[in-house]
Amino acid sequence: MMSYDLHLHSCLSPCGDDSMTPNNIVNMARLIGLGAISVTDHNSLRQQPAIQSCAQKAGIEYVCGVELQTREEVHVLGYFPSTAVAVVQRWIEERYSGRENRTDYFGSQWIMNDQDEVVDEENQLLLDSLNASLEECIAMIHQFKGKAVLAHAWGKSNGIIPQLGFIPKNLAFDGIEVRDLKEIAFIKRNSPWVKETLWLCSSDAHQLIDLHEPEYTLTHAQWQELKGGSG
Ligand SMILES: [Zn+2]
Ligand SMILES: [Zn+2]
Repeated sequence: MMSYDLHLHSCLSPCGDDSMTPNNIVNMARLIGLGAISVTDHNSLRQQPAIQSCAQKAGIEYVCGVELQTREEVHVLGYFPSTAVAVVQRWIEERYSGRENRTDYFGSQWIMNDQDEVVDEENQLLLDSLNASLEECIAMIHQFKGKAVLAHAWGKSNGIIPQLGFIPKNLAFDGIEVRDLKEIAFIKRNSPWVKETLWLCSSDAHQLIDLHEPEYTLTHAQWQELKGGSG
């Protein structure tokens, strides 16, 4: 079994604490004993190379990730093989709102190398919705061999149920993220057509202290499936 926390924000996310550097995240994950992590910044994969490098050096399993905000203001997590990072990033950049970040208001969007040195700053505000629908985002994730997981689906703003009222029938997602396993029953009652799926429980940590203890686990097969074989 693989303990995991697959929804973390680095200092690239404007709402992510500046202490959420690649090395700090990986060292905290190692300290608390997590087996696998993913950093899923808002609408950007530009921190992925540094985080992945740090995780590899520390011997922690890693899957590349991103948290997309769709036109419906729904958050959906995409997990990708590392070979897809550049092409997914290009797809996202073609769908940005065009609004620039205001660091005084939203916070900084630092891009680091694997030594935690700032190498760039993202100027495009990453908190806006992409110019793409939920269905288009999920189709893109699958096109690039990724897995689509509905983020904090129950009871939190930008979750699919708070945003749309229910999970649409025939939506082609691969998993649903909950903040607490009790929410699974609420979701099944709300959207009874949702059949068995991959249920994930991650922290959505924006600061180091919020990472999950190694409480939730995936089987080896589930982990391989999520990683897409390569990467
Ligand atoms: Zn979110
Ligand atoms: Zn998040």
